[in-house]
Amino acid sequence: MIIPYGRHEIDNDDVNSVVEVLENKFLTQGDVVPEFEREVSSFCGAHHAIALNSATSALHLACRALEVKRGDIVWTSPISFVASANCAIYCGAKIDFVDINPNTNNIDPTLLKLKLIKAKKNNQLPKVVIPVHLCGLPCEMSTIWELSKEFNFQIIEDASHALGAEYNSTRIGNCKYSSITVFSFHPVKMITTGEGGMALTNSREIYERIKLLRSHGITKESKLMDKEKEGPWYYQQIELGYNYRMTDIQAALGISQLKKLEKFILNRSTLAERYIKNLKSSKFKTPLIPNNAKSSWHLFVVKISLNSFDEKRILFEYLIKNKIQVNLHYIPIYSHPFYKNFGFKKEDFPNSEKYYKEALTLPLFSNLSFLEQDKIITKLEKFSNK
Ligand SMILES: *Cc1c(COP(=O)(O)O)cnc(C)c1O
Repeated sequence: MIIPYGRHEIDNDDVNSVVEVLENKFLTQGDVVPEFEREVSSFCGAHHAIALNSATSALHLACRALEVKRGDIVWTSPISFVASANCAIYCGAKIDFVDINPNTNNIDPTLLKLKLIKAKKNNQLPKVVIPVHLCGLPCEMSTIWELSKEFNFQIIEDASHALGAEYNSTRIGNCKYSSITVFSFHPVKMITTGEGGMALTNSREIYERIKLLRSHGITKESKLMDKEKEGPWYYQQIELGYNYRMTDIQAALGISQLKKLEKFILNRSTLAERYIKNLKSSKFKTPLIPNNAKSSWHLFVVKISLNSFDEKRILFEYLIKNKIQVNLHYIPIYSHPFYKNFGFKKEDFPNSEKYYKEALTLPLFSNLSFLEQDKIITKLEKFSNK
């Protein structure tokens, strides 16, 4: 069987939790979603959490909650999944990118500052910046936070990879350095609900707004209505919202999965350390984790110095032929055809371009066996010695 780059891990407890909802509870809009929200917010140390049907929806509503609109500008990292940028475009805003730091592969705070100084001169400051904790490695949030005060922008953390990661000894998701933090529960991510996501915040106002937009912009609370309730059946639509709800079936799986997150991270860290120790060829550059950060190890990206892009294609094919499903996270967002008309220039993002040439995602998931991993390492070493 082919070794995938990422895979979920489901056990009997997970199955039983889902069956319990199917047999005994509401399938959606019952009490399991609120329970999952409480569990995740207390795990992360945030005041509020809103479960959604994906991280993409969470990013969209995070932008809506911060009133991102036509005429506004949003910045993110080019080395991310497209959803990190699309959320701004959903709201009619303009998207721009800040190049990455070659050591962390995350948005570079120094380049961010330089771009902010320039943007201020041109009256083009962003309303929101979306740092992405790539592979589960937290961005330099305290620096980005200070810049947000100096240049007056809000922060949405795209922590789709980073549930369980730590920064300055506290958990990502506590929103100490952001208005909103977003997680994904897609099966390749840290824990899964099939599809699913969550937005966390310490602001009561943002919480209320995301909750409203999650369900059509409909409210049953009289204090939000423009007149007295007409009867017990009464509700009002007061905003243009969506159906971005998570089901109770999914939330049951999420609650059960969350119990195992620490084990998942421990297994992933052990495997990551084995890669770092055993990939000996000087051609491989393995990740460096700064002292103030703990990665959740969602992805293991190694950088390979190759003579050409062709050689990278050959390496990919060689590994896939050996039933090792490597991957590449990510193609710079600005190079996708949809983004072609926006006028981005590759030359403005030299670190992202270099990253794209060198990066390779090796299989990493909680139940990857040492045997499978050793095979991957052996094949890589063999290729590099050719
Ligand atoms: C997976 C991912 C998303 C989108 O998550 P979904 O839950 O699939 O919508 C957004 N941003 C990043 C960085 C991701 O990896």
